[in-house]
Amino acid sequence: MLAAMTDLLAEAKAGGFAVGSFNVYNLEGALAVVEAAERTRSPAAIQLHSPAVKSGGPPLVALCLAAARGANVPMAVHFDHGSSVGEIEEALAIGFTSIMADGSRLPYAENVEFTKKMTTLAHSKKVAVEGELGRLAGTEGDMVVPESEGSMTDPDQAASFVEQTGVDALAVCIGNSHGRSGTKDRLDFGLLARIRSAVVVPLVLHGASGVSEPSIRRCIDLGVTKFNVNAELRGAYVSALSQGLHSQPPDLAELMRSATVAVRDVVSNKLRIFRSSGRAGGMV
Ligand SMILES: [Zn+2]
Repeated sequence: MLAAMTDLLAEAKAGGFAVGSFNVYNLEGALAVVEAAERTRSPAAIQLHSPAVKSGGPPLVALCLAAARGANVPMAVHFDHGSSVGEIEEALAIGFTSIMADGSRLPYAENVEFTKKMTTLAHSKKVAVEGELGRLAGTEGDMVVPESEGSMTDPDQAASFVEQTGVDALAVCIGNSHGRSGTKDRLDFGLLARIRSAVVVPLVLHGASGVSEPSIRRCIDLGVTKFNVNAELRGAYVSALSQGLHSQPPDLAELMRSATVAVRDVVSNKLRIFRSSGRAGGMV
């Protein structure tokens, strides 16, 4: 069933687990997330970032919404890294139930202004908003931020950012990065704890691919309520496809199925690590 992200995050925050939000690009990805969530009895979110939306257009968003509606566990459909007014207006018109207003490339005051404006707009349509403070290094689609340009989230600034913008969740930069760079286990847990005490909204960690299980669990204990995973799913998808291409002629239906299963297994494992397995029961 289609669920509001705010409900998933509230349940996770109260229950000591985190919501897995998984980037997909096509039908196989959406099915993989739904099947993993159903098999583990876990709430979860399907998310699309801008390059995927540009490529698949409204039909891709419609199929993600249909997959979420047809699931027997609660699922949100989230627009990841909306960085312009036009993109976010379009995402709201197409029917996303949750959006990220990403003004992290902007100077602080402009990030506040952009995020506040997008939050007012999204809230008027009862859609939840995730903001970001700090600048996350790494590569996500067409968004490339060198490590030298990354910056950590300042706890005091985070408190006023949340208050001024009215966001429902805050993506933090604590040494995490997009993609699968080698810095995955350099998370600053002390900083995470300070941010947690400074703000009340659920915290989000992007770039969860490759972060070790103990670090993920420590993040949850310190208040991370949503993890975004993209690179590991992409890797599983591409690897399954390339293996299947050896058979000649390739059976496309079988190939797509093998890619779905490969991604599903990665998602299922993440849901277990996020402690969300078996948590759908109370929400259905
Ligand atoms: Zn991200």
